[in-house]
Amino acid sequence: MPVLNVERPAFMAEEELNIFEDAAGRFFEEHASPEATARWRENGVVDRDMWTRAGQAGLLGLSIPEEYGGAGGDYRHEVILMEQLAAKGVDGFGISLHNAIVAPYILHYGAEEQRRRWLPRICTGELVTAIAMTEPGAGSDLQGVKTTAVRDGDDYVINGQKTFITNGQTANLIAVVVKTDPAQGARGTSMIFVETDNAPGFERGRNLHKLGQSAQDTSELFFNDVRVPAANLLGGDEGQGFFQLMGQLPQERLNIAVGGIGAIEAALALTIDYVKQRTAFGKKLIDFQNTQFKLAECKTEATVARVFVNHCIEQHLKGKLDAATASMAKYWVSDLENKIIDECLQLFGGYGYMDEYPISRMYRDSRVQRIYGGTNEIMKILISRTL
Ligand SMILES: Cc1cc2nc3c(=O)[nH]c(=O)nc-3n(C[C@H](O)[C@H](O)[C@H](O)COP(=O)(O)OP(=O)(O)OC[C@H]3O[C@@H](n4cnc5c(N)ncnc54)[C@H](O)[C@@H]3O)c2cc1C
Repeated sequence: MPVLNVERPAFMAEEELNIFEDAAGRFFEEHASPEATARWRENGVVDRDMWTRAGQAGLLGLSIPEEYGGAGGDYRHEVILMEQLAAKGVDGFGISLHNAIVAPYILHYGAEEQRRRWLPRICTGELVTAIAMTEPGAGSDLQGVKTTAVRDGDDYVINGQKTFITNGQTANLIAVVVKTDPAQGARGTSMIFVETDNAPGFERGRNLHKLGQSAQDTSELFFNDVRVPAANLLGGDEGQGFFQLMGQLPQERLNIAVGGIGAIEAALALTIDYVKQRTAFGKKLIDFQNTQFKLAECKTEATVARVFVNHCIEQHLKGKLDAATASMAKYWVSDLENKIIDECLQLFGGYGYMDEYPISRMYRDSRVQRIYGGTNEIMKILISRTL
């Protein structure tokens, strides 16, 4: 039974999407069992062959047209995949970044030759992608990026350092945000793809230990005179990087909200189940008015969030989701996710603090949602510009 009393919106209520949802759910049950995900967390990285399996199951490149090897779907398929990741407790698998952040850059801004060169291999899992924007000295303020790409004949030579890069140990196709003209801010910024399988001077640094998302190989990357063909400049024109980033960030922020509401629904389902079983003072926890009121509040707020996220998805499908509304969704849903998961954990008592209870992991995993994809403070700056 769905945990919220919100009907699936008409634009999501299609038989084909239900079939896809079942298939994605079964895929994770089979290939991301609790044993497998525990191993990934232990190793700090998802098994490499998970990507190939996902490719074989048709889960990579969901919204990439069939002519480039994709599934020919749209953002609704990406939404369902993100919901299933949350519902099945698959944390740390950077598939949505691959599918719904990096691949769209190539599809929307790439030259035809770049699409044909990279997208089919992205869809099979031969190429795993990452996007490297953040540097030790430039996070929120991306104009401060110091990594440079200097044109030398038919190549660019890249020098610099990136950090906090999702899929950093696994990725072999990395979209690197660089300065092609360091004298300029936004207009001197470009995005260059680096195929790392044969890239002397490219080095992976530490797979960073984190508060949560332990199965995710968030890493440092180093570029020391890395040569890439000039044909790897996204779109072919220098100075477009910032505009390309701005164009895709609404979807990136909506992804975080979609993942957030998925996590909220999963946490509520786990908690409602638990409080109906656990007893104290001769009663079920659900029979205490405090439990009822807390969960009534959580369910109300989750319902508001779900309706708003559905509205944003619909706007996005129509090509009308503006940056400020996407920022509202990102900041408000991720704040709510942290608040609700905290309330849920409290209802588990000491068990909620134990690793073997998924709610403790959800508590740790959710914290970063307020930080990455642009911090929630930066979201508020973007929203205030529309006042
Ligand atoms: C798990 C994880 C995965 C990530 N994955 C990626 C990835 O794949 N690729 C990538 O490029 N990056 C990634 N990041 C980086 C992430 O996007 C940055 O951490 C984030 O943008 C914040 O930058 P920062 O860490 O440098 O913080 P800072 O920019 O130093 O911010 C520190 C604090 O100051 C506040 N602040 C900054 N500027 C302002 C302002 N103008 N007004 C008010 N407050 C302000 C911030 O909100 C924050 O609270 C990831 C980060 C994490 C933790």
